[in-house]
Amino acid sequence: MDLGIAGKHALVCAASKGLGRACALSLAENGVNLTLIARTPGPLEETAEEIRKATGVTVNAVAGDIVSAEGREKALAACPQVDILVNNAGGPPPGDFRDWDREDWIKALDANMLTAIELIKATIDPMIERKFGRIVNITSGSVKSPIPALGMSNGARAGLTGFCAGLSRQVAQHNVTINNLLPGPFETDRLTANTKSAAEKAGQAFEEVWKQRQQANPSKRFGQPREFGEACAFLASAQAGYIVGQNLLLDGGAFNSTF
Ligand code: NAP
Repeated sequence: MDLGIAGKHALVCAASKGLGRACALSLAENGVNLTLIARTPGPLEETAEEIRKATGVTVNAVAGDIVSAEGREKALAACPQVDILVNNAGGPPPGDFRDWDREDWIKALDANMLTAIELIKATIDPMIERKFGRIVNITSGSVKSPIPALGMSNGARAGLTGFCAGLSRQVAQHNVTINNLLPGPFETDRLTANTKSAAEKAGQAFEEVWKQRQQANPSKRFGQPREFGEACAFLASAQAGYIVGQNLLLDGGAFNSTF
């Protein structure tokens, strides 16, 4: 299917690895030029070069922290125009809410709610003027089904989801859409790190916990980042203009419900 977005420009946040990288690659395969941001220059430049070689699109790589005002300014300055915005950042740490103070919460809100809102604020009016814009927020399955140890993720991402539910209905008439992708377990560095820490806590071998977690999923496996990236490219497509304010769960069926 021709997604009708060749020649557009996307800002993809937290994009050197994992789900952000997969979104960038799928967009590039559909002819979208990219600006990518991540903090560590080495893996970022590697990803940018791999995507350039594989697809021939223009890829600007910006080394910076998207959660800081300075990082956001650098990223936006590197984009000729933002037609597609993929919001993403690292997730907050697990723990017990009794141990979290105001500072911890502010960090989580900054990373998983306010940074996305700042970037939307910086890019949405020109999208409205051009009568095309696609905003995809990478949130988490925890928005729909809270994960006990990830209270800050549950809370901060739900805040972003609520805000975007309202805003998406105010901008849809201009062919600007805002939707959220909710990952369940996808095979990325983050999943490996989380599984390692769970295995250590339980005194079990990493491989054992990894397999148990796969078996607990109705699909009997973890998601592949490629599958996630393709869903992002579709939400960014010309054809997806009537998909507004939705939360698409990609979790292999882990969330058990009829609807
Ligand atoms: P990942 O494989 O660890 O990749 C994270 C990427 O984000 C890296 O490129 C990292 O590069 C970049 N990054 C992190 N913080 C950043 C910042 N402040 N500024 C700029 N770049 C930043 O993680 P992932 O699995 O793709 O997860 C992506 C998001 O989805 C996270 O919020 C995660 O919590 C959420 N999620 C993931 C899963 C899953 O199973 N994978 C499930 C539910 C939710 P640098 O470190 O170099 O900056």
